[in-house]
Amino acid sequence: MQLLDGKLTSNTLKDEIAKEVSKVLAQGGKKPHLAAILVGSNGASETYVNAKVKACEKVGFDSTLVRMSEDVSEEELLNEVRKINENPAIDGLIVQLPLPKHISEIKVTETIVPEKDVDGFHPVNLGRMTLNLPTFLPATPAGIVELLDRYDIETSGKHCVVIGRSHIVGSPMSILMARNAKVGNCTVTLTHSRTTNLEEISRSADILIVALGKPEFVTADMVKEGAVIVDVGITRVKSDKTKSGWKLKGDVAFDEVAPKCSFITPVPGGVGPMTIASLLKNTLISARGK
Ligand code: NAD
Repeated sequence: MQLLDGKLTSNTLKDEIAKEVSKVLAQGGKKPHLAAILVGSNGASETYVNAKVKACEKVGFDSTLVRMSEDVSEEELLNEVRKINENPAIDGLIVQLPLPKHISEIKVTETIVPEKDVDGFHPVNLGRMTLNLPTFLPATPAGIVELLDRYDIETSGKHCVVIGRSHIVGSPMSILMARNAKVGNCTVTLTHSRTTNLEEISRSADILIVALGKPEFVTADMVKEGAVIVDVGITRVKSDKTKSGWKLKGDVAFDEVAPKCSFITPVPGGVGPMTIASLLKNTLISARGK
C-alpha cells in the first residue's frame, strides 16, 4: 500500500504556483488576488477559510477575507458579491459553504460572475466542465484528478465508483473520471443514498472515491484487493486525545482498508490540501486571463 500524499503533492503544486507568481511580478504584473466571504462563525468553516487565506500568503497572492454576521440578509450578501464581481483588483471569489438556512446557496453561487468563480460551482462553469471546455474545475474534484495524475495512477478502462452525488464533489467527480482525458476514460458508477447494492458495487471498484460525510463508512469488506481509494470525507469527531477536543475522520475506515489497497489518501493530509491547491491554481488562471 502506498499513501497518496496530498500534503506533499499540494506543497509541490504551491511551490510551482509561487514560482509563477514571482515570474509575473518580475515582468511587472500584479499579484493574483483571492477574496473569500465567511458568513457566521461555524468552527469548521472558520478553519477552512483561514487555511485558504494562509495558502494565499504562502504562494504570494493577495487575499481579502470579508466576514459577515450569521444574521446577514440574503440581499446584503448578494450585494457584497456584486461589489467584488465589479472590483477589477480581485481575480477570484469564494463564498464559504454552508450558508445559514435563510440564504439560498444557489442564488449566491449564480451571482458570482463565472470569470471569478474559482470554486467552479457556477452552473456555467459546471456546464463547461461537462462539455470538456476550458473552465474552472470544482476545486475538490480537480485536486483529486491532480493527485491521481501526479502519482501516475492508470485510470483508462478502469471501473471507478463514486459514493455520494453532491454538486460540489460526487457529481462533478463522476463526470471528470468518465471524460476523455489523461486522468479519465473510466467506466463510472455514481452511487448515492438510494443505491440498493452499494457493497457489491464498491467491491467491484478499481478506483473508489468516497464523499458522503459518514465517518468510517467504507469498511474492508467493501473494498477490492489492490483498489485505489480516495477518501474525501472530513468529519470532526470528539476526541479526548487531542488538545482541541476533536479530530478529523474520513469516510473510510483507514486502518482496516489500507492493507487491502494499492493506494489510499489519508485524512487529514489527503484530499483537503489538494482542494486548497486547486483553488490557488484556479485563481492564478483567472489572474493570467486578464
Ligand atoms: P453532501 O452531504 O452534500 O452529500 C452527501 C452525499 O452522500 C449525498 O449525495 C448522498 O446521496 C450520499 N449518501 C448519503 N448516505 C449514503 C449512503 N448510506 N450510501 C451512499 N451514499 C450516501 O456531501 P459533500 O458536500 O460532497 O461532502 C461529503 C464529505 O466530504 C463531507 O465529509 C465533507 O466534509 C467532505 N468534503 C471534503 C472536502 C475536502 O476538501 N477534503 C471538500 C468537500 C467536502
